[in-house]
Parts: sequence; structure tokens; C-alpha cells
Amino acid sequence: MEKIRLGISTCLLGNNVRYDGGHKLDRFLTDTLGQYVEYVPVCPEVECGLGIPRESMHLEGDPDSPRLVTTYSKQDMTEQMVRWAQKRVAELEKEDLCGFIFKSNSPSSGMERIRVYNEKGMPIKRGVGVFAKIFRNHFSLLPVEDEGRLHDPGLRENFIERIFALKRWREVLDRKESRGSVVDFHTKHKLLILSHSPKHYQMMGMLVAKAKDLPIKELYQQYQTILMEALRLKTTPKKNTNVLQHMMGYFKEQLSSDEKKELLEVIDHYRQEYIPLIVPITLIQHYVRKYDQPYLKEQIFLNPHPLELQLRNHV
Ligand code: SF4
Repeated sequence: MEKIRLGISTCLLGNNVRYDGGHKLDRFLTDTLGQYVEYVPVCPEVECGLGIPRESMHLEGDPDSPRLVTTYSKQDMTEQMVRWAQKRVAELEKEDLCGFIFKSNSPSSGMERIRVYNEKGMPIKRGVGVFAKIFRNHFSLLPVEDEGRLHDPGLRENFIERIFALKRWREVLDRKESRGSVVDFHTKHKLLILSHSPKHYQMMGMLVAKAKDLPIKELYQQYQTILMEALRLKTTPKKNTNVLQHMMGYFKEQLSSDEKKELLEVIDHYRQEYIPLIVPITLIQHYVRKYDQPYLKEQIFLNPHPLELQLRNHV
């Protein structure tokens, strides 16, 4: 797989673009995830024409439509930022992004819970950074996260799973349009989708079943929308347990009673959150190889992102 292209707030890469001339290097993003990703850096404040260093800024006014204002001299930078952001998102359409990692707590780049000050100078954490809001409205289906939330193992696993899934889907889009490609993609992603949402799993199954009756463009469009909506929903031990038990059904005939007992025990320990997901997955992978199970061998659920990222060691 080619590297995944991801937008990122420039200061997270260690570039000295912050208002005080500093950076917010995040080593996981550069050194670990960076091995699989090609970053497209975006610093709204510098790119919209503000210098380094510069006066710090914050949001103030109506939390749903706040103004971007410099902290001490009270200059309103909203128009300048909005004009630039609208142009920049149009340019980013050509970048083939599979997601964006925003800098948390920034009045320009923060994606949620940004402080918005009222006329008495009291903050309420309900704002969205000016650029982040325009980006999210423009690319409503793209996976987005901020570096702070990515410290949570569940959110990290979910985000990285989504960007890898989107990259695989983009590879389908790059090929000649065919219903067969959608069916093939869906077949391999079935159990992954089920682990996020049984409801979307059903909807997508129905969509693929009537693929022949739909204009092909509409099929691609609808499939992509439901896929992204499904994967946005978080997996839980309960949902994953359902998938693991479903997988076990494929070995009913082959597993010895000892093997069955052991697998059931491991799945139950995972359900009770005594052990991480990687343990039952490893055992099932072992049986997939041992019994050469053709359907499960193809399932992305067993291998949604590189093992080296160790994402399932912590969920
Ligand atoms: S938070 Fe955004 S605007 Fe601020 S320095 Fe980082 S990239 Fe630039």
C-alpha cells in the first residue's frame, strides 16, 4: 500500500510556527504513524498571513459563530482567516487526503471544545477553531482527530483503522468502476463493519445485494457514505465479542473440544476486559492458518492496520 496522505497541523510536526516561535512536536505522529503516512502540513495562522512570532489569539462571542480575536490588542482576524480557509480547503481537494490531525485547544486548528470567551472574559469550552470548522464542513466524511484525543487508545485505534479503510477504498476508486470491485471490497470488510455497527452492516449488505439495480455512480457514492458513517461508530468489547463468536462458527467442524474450550475462554476474558483484543485475534489467526479457512483469511477485521502500531494491544 502507498503511504496514506493525511493533513496535519504544522506545529505537530515540530515546525516552529506557533505564536511564540515554538512547536508542539508529537513523536507518535512523526516517528510511529509517520512510517505509514505522508503528511500535508497546514498552519492556518501562518498561511493566512500572520508572522512568527505573533500575538496570541482566542475565540470570543457567540460559541456557535465566534470571532477570532488577538488577546491583547483585540484585532478581529476572523475575516482574514475565513477568506484564506475557504481557498485552502478548495486546494486541499487535490491532495487526496484520507484524514486530518488537528492541534487541540487552538482557536484556529482545534476541532472541538475550544474556549470561547464571553463579554465578561469567562470561557466556555464549546467552540471549534475557525479553520477546523471550515475544513470539517467541506470534508464532512473524512476521519478527523486531534493529537490530544489520539492519546486515548480506543480513539487512536478507531481513527487509524478508518484512515487505512479509506485508503483501501480509494484504491478501489482508482480502478475502473465495476460493481464487482465494490462487492469484493465489501466481502473483505464485512466483519470489520459488523464490529462497528450491526445496523450499518445490514444496510450495506442490502445495498450490495441490489448493486445491479443501481446506477454505478450512485452505488459508489452510497457505499462510501455508509462505510464512513459505520466506521466512525466505535467498536466495543461487546460488539467485538459478537464478531469473534461469529468467526468461531466457521471452525465448528474442525476445532477439537479442547481448542473450542480454549477459544471460548479467551473470547470471554476479552469480553470481560481482562485481556486486550490482540489475544483472541492472534488465536483466531492461528486457527485460520491451521485450518486454511478461505473466507476468514480475507477478512480485514483480522488485520486492519499494521501490527507494528500495536493498536490492539491496548483496546
Ligand atoms: S495550532 Fe494551528 S495555527 Fe497554531 S501553530 Fe499549530 S498549526 Fe499553526
